[in-house]
Amino acid sequence: MINSPLLPHLQGYIAGRWTAGSAKGEIVVINPADGSELARIPAMGAAETEDAVAAANQALNQPIDLETRRRWLKRIAEVLLENKEELGRILTLEHGKPWPEAQVEVEYSAGFFSYAAEALDVLKPRVLAQRPRNMTWTVYYRPVGVSALITPWNFPLGMIAKKLAASLAGGSPAVIKPSSKTPLTMIALFTLLERELDLPRGMVNLVIGPAGEIGNALCDHPGVHMISFTGSTETGRELMARCAAQVKKVALELGGNAPFIVFADADLDLAADQLMANKFRGAGQTCVCANRILVQRDVLDAFGEKVAERVRRLKVGDGMQPGVDIGPLIDRNGFNKVRRHVEDALNKGARLLAGELPAPAEQDWGCFYPPSVLTGVQPGMLVQREETFGPLVPLMPFDDEADAVRIANDTEFGLAAYVFTADDELAQRVIARLRFGHVGYNTGTGPTPEAPFGGMKQSGIGREGGIEGLFEFVEPQTVPKP
Ligand code: NAP
Repeated sequence: MINSPLLPHLQGYIAGRWTAGSAKGEIVVINPADGSELARIPAMGAAETEDAVAAANQALNQPIDLETRRRWLKRIAEVLLENKEELGRILTLEHGKPWPEAQVEVEYSAGFFSYAAEALDVLKPRVLAQRPRNMTWTVYYRPVGVSALITPWNFPLGMIAKKLAASLAGGSPAVIKPSSKTPLTMIALFTLLERELDLPRGMVNLVIGPAGEIGNALCDHPGVHMISFTGSTETGRELMARCAAQVKKVALELGGNAPFIVFADADLDLAADQLMANKFRGAGQTCVCANRILVQRDVLDAFGEKVAERVRRLKVGDGMQPGVDIGPLIDRNGFNKVRRHVEDALNKGARLLAGELPAPAEQDWGCFYPPSVLTGVQPGMLVQREETFGPLVPLMPFDDEADAVRIANDTEFGLAAYVFTADDELAQRVIARLRFGHVGYNTGTGPTPEAPFGGMKQSGIGREGGIEGLFEFVEPQTVPKP
């Protein structure tokens, strides 16, 4: 069992109180590195979800002024950084990523709160410079209402930070449902919120339990005004359909299938280093990690060798051990999906430059996938069509600019893309034609709190981060006055 000063309660949190679940069953949290049991949390269900929504609506009745919200946001950023090591340790134990990387996630999360505090003035009322119809027109930014925030396991803190910072900035109370695989980091966050802040009762609520039951209760409840979801496109589609009945606002951060395009004139060492940093974070289980590596034919072999050489040096192991680059995958489904992609590609003529085809995983822990590089990847292979979500680099050739753009856009996803070239005009032409919400130009870097991030096409609706992310959680209210 996990022992942490940030986990005195292994429960949800409703209306300012730690609350045990009364639904059937328990959420069992395991360490994916060694299978040890970290916690058993009594499951919450529809009844607790309704209580949480009621508490949040009570909080919504008492509007919070901008300076109070700014103070909260600043304080949350501070307490996250003050508890970086312990939060990171909990995160590593339940997720598997290396501890230093988990601490970077805590810093990244703190950044969303400090940025929101800094940028909050954009939500001050705005008086129009013009006087249409000879009146004064004021636009107020009211809270969107009660927001339901549903987050995945791959960034147990980062994904809630994006949503909660914007929700609190707008003055919207929240009901939060974390992934059942990684609820402990969220509980630790709530311990800090309770201990270090003076949030009104019901301003933040935490429900932990079966996704379908809680999700349905949130979508169907008229007292929930917005669903902000990060996770798979499949689940996002279901939530969107369910929310249609009440025309409920949805913000969706969904799956990706990121192209990483390397033109022949690019600095190949830079591109290889950036690919490593981008691809292997979280063992390749990130929505922005390169999924299709498109390399101009003349430099395919040279680039493939540079990447393979770097991949062979990666150290795989328990994320709490020093020097580990890559932890385990989250469970056997994750492992077997990567394996299936490699097997399918090998059967269709690709070959491995690094790594091997492992035996299928039979249990949900110790799923350490050998980091691998495939070359000779062709359209039609699974690895080109689906999000692999693992430590696999599939290399595929392209001939020219038009070919690169066509292949890159040939997906229903549109989250992140990357372009490497020394030719600025070429880069600008390509980037303008890529239907992706984030395009790294000679960098594999992902989102930052200061900039909007989100998907085009079936990668989502709306943006998180930047001032655009703050506007997601408010409703403009226009008041003309003679
Ligand atoms: P998931 O299976 O869709 O789950 C995400 C969250 O939704 C979890 O909390 C899950 O709860 C919950 N959930 C599942 N079914 C639900 C339902 N019917 N109603 C309400 N909630 C439901 O996704 P995942 O496997 O955890 O996450 C990986 C995916 O997230 C990848 O596709 C990745 O690309 C995407 N992602 C996108 C972004 C982005 O910014 N666009 C960022 C990170 C990840 P349980 O865990 O309890 O089942």
